[in-house]
Amino acid sequence: MGGIFSKYPGFGKVVRRAIDIVLPPRCLSCGEPVATVGQLCGPCWTGAEFISEPYCRCCGLPLDYDVGPGAVCGECARRAPAFHQARSALRYEGTGRSLVLALKHGDRTETVPALAAWMVRTAGDLIEKGDLVVPVPLHRRRLFDRRFNQSALLAAEIGKLTGTEVGARTLVRRRPTPPQKGLSRQARFRNLQGAISVRDSDRARIVDRRAVLVDDVMTTGATAENCARTLLRAGCREVNVLTVTRVVRQDAGVI
Ligand SMILES: [Zn+2]
Ligand SMILES: [Zn+2]
Repeated sequence: MGGIFSKYPGFGKVVRRAIDIVLPPRCLSCGEPVATVGQLCGPCWTGAEFISEPYCRCCGLPLDYDVGPGAVCGECARRAPAFHQARSALRYEGTGRSLVLALKHGDRTETVPALAAWMVRTAGDLIEKGDLVVPVPLHRRRLFDRRFNQSALLAAEIGKLTGTEVGARTLVRRRPTPPQKGLSRQARFRNLQGAISVRDSDRARIVDRRAVLVDDVMTTGATAENCARTLLRAGCREVNVLTVTRVVRQDAGVI
């Protein structure tokens, strides 16, 4: 397959166009037919809860009341996270949750361009030229099971959209970590202790540089915190976090 695609560069495009004609565009979330590629159907659009202000200036958690610019949530007020700011496009509920699960467990990688575009829009000036976009790593065993790292796909697309460099393998997972599901915040931190590190060959490129950490969902922030600390310890100047979704209610069905 790769052979013919590389021999005739236009071939892939022709095949894709032919597939588009045969298979009508589908809703990114539920798969129902829609008018154009990269869209949500009406009901899924209605069920998509995009995060808007007011939210915590630091971790991006939606706040119940608008208490003015610079407001932080209780958690960040108690203890500021290692990362500078975190933002997420959608709540991990309804359509946001379906989209993440479809990508992660349903191999719906065709949703990546739309998800990345929403993330870039959400990021605003959180991404600047010169930043290094870094995906949260998967352990190679899980990568083998799943065949792709959804965060790496999102990071690659964000890099393309913003013209920023992507450190696809800057962070590595040295050991597999048991699933975080059902663990308390403290247990999640312990679970990740020492699991993630900076690849030796990437050390030079992160020194005194800003990094944007990319993931599909932010739950308690334990993974983001762990990755941010790792990057900062290795010399990163500042770490910001960008995720597709954010768990807002702890009963939202954590994966
Ligand atoms: Zn739909
Ligand atoms: Zn916060």
